[in-house]
Amino acid sequence: MYDFLIDSFYLIGDTATKLFGIALIFLALAFIVKGKKAISALRTALPNTVFNINIMALNLLLLTPVLVWISQLQKQHNLLLIQPDTWQSIPEPLVIFVAVFLGDFIGYWRHRFEHTSFLWPSHMMHHSDANMTWLTLERFHPINRLSTFIIDSTFLLAVGLPPYAILINGLVRHYYGFFIHADLPWAYGKLGYVFVSPVMHRWHHAEEQAAHKTNFATVFAVFDLAFGTYRVPGLCTKPLGVKGQSSASLVAQLIYPFRFSSYKTGAARQQYESKIHAQPTEKTLR
Ligand SMILES: [Zn+2]
Ligand SMILES: [Zn+2]
Repeated sequence: MYDFLIDSFYLIGDTATKLFGIALIFLALAFIVKGKKAISALRTALPNTVFNINIMALNLLLLTPVLVWISQLQKQHNLLLIQPDTWQSIPEPLVIFVAVFLGDFIGYWRHRFEHTSFLWPSHMMHHSDANMTWLTLERFHPINRLSTFIIDSTFLLAVGLPPYAILINGLVRHYYGFFIHADLPWAYGKLGYVFVSPVMHRWHHAEEQAAHKTNFATVFAVFDLAFGTYRVPGLCTKPLGVKGQSSASLVAQLIYPFRFSSYKTGAARQQYESKIHAQPTEKTLR
């Protein structure tokens, strides 16, 4: 009956160990790309890094048992829209590709939903990091973590994808997610129209009106191109974060989605952004 607690315990230990290895990789990358400047960059990002580690620990301890319990419930209840047999006749590498592609498609639309006034108050915490690093991937309000998990996993289970494909999709999204949040000046050239680069996702976090409501995908830039939200005007050197919120404490940001006024602020932000995006772009003005 309490299987989910035992599973959660192992999952928490496993995640903490893996994170240590990932931290070493990104530390090495920072020194390779920035040289000695990496030290001052690390120092500047320290308060936000501490914030990110705290929220990650809180999510890990609070939410892991809930997420394991939800996934057990999902498995008990038949959510299937497509029968699992359908996937058996397809080669495994193709099934994995379909899982990651579909996973990113649903992730793209879920992320757009997170930028509406309804979910923005809980998504805001992810954007409040003014010194984005790979660890920003762990900076999510528990409500945002929960809604992401429920939306993404319900969809992938409903299409009857085999467990190995769902697992690999999760790993790809997670590790690639760390990578696109890292402070790396890589835009991929022409490949940047196919895959999301660290520069492309950095623009998603830029605190300037033109950048809001752009670059929602995690793995495939093609979704942003197809749905008109792609925007990469060179390397991103603009300030990051959310005006008036980036310096708020962890507790203040945890309370934020529980205040009615946050939804009013979210709605005002949406209205303002809609006006910005309805105006002709600089190119069409010329
Ligand atoms: Zn976002
Ligand atoms: Zn992000």
